[in-house]
Amino acid sequence: MRRKGLASMAAQTVASTTDTPNAPAAPAAPPVDLGPAVALSCRECGERTPLSPSFACASCFGPLEAAYELPTGDPEALRKAIEAGPESIWRYAPLLPVPADVAAKPNLNPGFTRLVKADRLAAELGVTGELYVKDDSGNPTHSFKDRVVAIAVEAARAFGFTTLSCSSTGNLAGAVGAAAARAGLRSCVFIPHDLEQGKVVMAAVYGGDVVAIEGTYDDVNRFCSELIGDPIGEGWGFTNVNLRPYYAEGSKTLAYEICEQLGWRIPDQIVIPVASGSQLTKIDKGLQELIKVGLVEEKPYRIIAAQAEGCSPVSAAYKAGHDVVRPVKPDTIVKSLAIGNPADGPYVLDIARRTGGAVEDVTDEQVVEGIKLLARTEGIFAETAGGVTVGVAKKLLEAGVLDPAATTVVINTGDGLKTLDAVAATSGPTATIRPSLEAFRAAGLSAH
Ligand SMILES: *Cc1c(COP(=O)(O)O)cnc(C)c1O
Ligand SMILES: [Zn+2]
Repeated sequence: MRRKGLASMAAQTVASTTDTPNAPAAPAAPPVDLGPAVALSCRECGERTPLSPSFACASCFGPLEAAYELPTGDPEALRKAIEAGPESIWRYAPLLPVPADVAAKPNLNPGFTRLVKADRLAAELGVTGELYVKDDSGNPTHSFKDRVVAIAVEAARAFGFTTLSCSSTGNLAGAVGAAAARAGLRSCVFIPHDLEQGKVVMAAVYGGDVVAIEGTYDDVNRFCSELIGDPIGEGWGFTNVNLRPYYAEGSKTLAYEICEQLGWRIPDQIVIPVASGSQLTKIDKGLQELIKVGLVEEKPYRIIAAQAEGCSPVSAAYKAGHDVVRPVKPDTIVKSLAIGNPADGPYVLDIARRTGGAVEDVTDEQVVEGIKLLARTEGIFAETAGGVTVGVAKKLLEAGVLDPAATTVVINTGDGLKTLDAVAATSGPTATIRPSLEAFRAAGLSAH
């Protein structure tokens, strides 16, 4: 019952097609090599199904996820192998649904972005413990989406797809366009018509097709589900729909990197932005796996989910004590997080509650304030989603919900250059003058 949103989405897809992606009737497919991933398993009923481009359980319509045979050997040997690996997400290939030779294929080598010790931001926020910003704007197309798309490309190759597609709030479209160009695949991506110019241009420049849909992201997503069920969509891998169980796993690498960069230790508190909630649930999964394979010591950690007030269905459910996330119509400058019907919303609630974390939202004004605070204190120009996590960290520190003495990581998932409009009105020249000392003196800036 509580998974109503998801179940109806899956049911809709099944109803619109004669040959569903989950039909068991197909002849035995050739074995697929996706490294340690051995099957898909249902997150609701646990039923297993072979690796395939499916996303919903045939028995209960629950979402499918990759299931692994994780390394069981000496953790010290695994740690050494990882540390000697490439400076990208591929150093964690033994924990990802990718073939062992993945790094040798043409790809964008995302990940291994910097973890910045943010002492000046800490001082400003009254944090006495260690505060870090995981800055994923350093990825090849300047958002965390390069991580998930790189995994989806491997799944697309394994399943023989020739076109890479997605429904996107902006960053995903750019990541898909670039990764497809590099891999030699066709791309066709779908976006809402009202995105920031930086994101539209970034999606189109790689030469793939970009289709703007007159509607919200949730309309775009519904349309893509229909496309998958139609012959038009044959041979198409939708990173965040039929390849979602693979794609989503890419977010685990954020957890792996944060822990490795902290000297193989789990932080006490992590603040994560939430659109569909996929990234947050996989960061939690990544932490659990690191504990399981013995790369980090088990310890309590708190997961904090961050949303923009103008699209805060998960935060609203959390505050009301609900298990069900009621869809909303987004109205916020934070377009990258503007998903009104988040597929992983209920799981985000579970994780926030299980870890003693929280779900919180901030206004658009607080988002802008967060962007400027991070820029002013640490020299990091975040996109609006980064303004959300910084804003939520600030709000929860002030409310006494976050522990100021703990080790805290705030994630910045994208680059401020893609969302210039958010700060353009308040970030211009301090003065415009003639090129003379007299004019400069008159501007009153010489005392600086
Ligand atoms: C996609 C995206 C997220 C998170 O997306 P989920 O759907 O919750 O995984 C966060 N920040 C940015 C900038 C994004 O583009
Ligand atoms: Zn199931």
